[in-house]
Amino acid sequence: MDLRNVAIIAHVDHGKTTLVDNLLRQAGAFRANQQVAERALDRNDLERERGITILAKCTAVSWRGARINIVDTPGHADFGGEVERILSMVDGAIVLVDAAEGVLPQTKFVVGKALARGLRPIVVINKVDRGDARPHEVHEEVFDLFAALGADEAQLDFPTLFASGRQGWADDSLEGPRRDLSALFELILRHVPPPGLDPEAPFALTATILEYDPYLGRILTGRVEQGRARVNMPVRVLRADGAVVETGRLTKLLAYRGLERVPVEEAEAGDIIAIAGLAQATVPDTIAAPEVAAALPAIPVDPPTLAMT
Ligand code: GDP
Repeated sequence: MDLRNVAIIAHVDHGKTTLVDNLLRQAGAFRANQQVAERALDRNDLERERGITILAKCTAVSWRGARINIVDTPGHADFGGEVERILSMVDGAIVLVDAAEGVLPQTKFVVGKALARGLRPIVVINKVDRGDARPHEVHEEVFDLFAALGADEAQLDFPTLFASGRQGWADDSLEGPRRDLSALFELILRHVPPPGLDPEAPFALTATILEYDPYLGRILTGRVEQGRARVNMPVRVLRADGAVVETGRLTKLLAYRGLERVPVEEAEAGDIIAIAGLAQATVPDTIAAPEVAAALPAIPVDPPTLAMT
């Protein structure tokens, strides 16, 4: 499976939801049986009420046979290392910046964490259709931000696209052709490395996002760090200290397809999946085949910090 995992990072209102909607519309495989919701990532009512994106979510798009898992990253606050954990599932990041507003605090906060993790972001200067857009200046602001945050040479050499997420196009120059988002799809495939994890090792996954679903109960999302998850396989749930808090089976495996989670029989190292049916497992437990003796290394967690606003 040709796979990429990428985070999307933006200040609120810079157009993340609109861009992902249009990526889904233009992506191949999942479109046929799927209505793209009006606001793709903002599925949570509370969020809709407040007009912000709170929880991390995952959307998968398919492009020329490759699957791209796009993980939304909460921008405004970091409760106990959530941003780090989410960034630990991805090998690249799309930094989306409004061409008129420029760099704002939530961009800084999460970009700093992405750079610290060694990710090499793709920069999308968005909303260049705005009358007050100043794309070149904002491009420089992003460069200055990366430099101020201690980016290395490779990170400073970031590829940039100019885009209107709302009109559904992204190009590497302001001259156009302003046709579609294929330049962004292709850049993701070229610039973001595949996860490169070992599918032959015993299965292990770090639980990264916990949700409650009225029908399925606890749902844990995470990346398969090694091996393969198979439906009904026996697993153990390990705390960071190695304590086994639960033994059970993977009764329900879900993969991300478009905006939906669909049941699958199997998932391979590198893929981001959701697991239902475990009663005790929480974030950031390791869910693993019984022969895995120790929890996967935990992501170092800062004390909870609030982003500057
Ligand atoms: P999010 O908070 O980052 O998810 O931002 P949204 O996708 O909800 O967009 C915020 C606002 O910006 C909405 O009113 C959008 O219609 C508008 N918007 C999004 N993309 C574009 C764009 O490419 N150009 C312009 N002019 N407006 C946009």
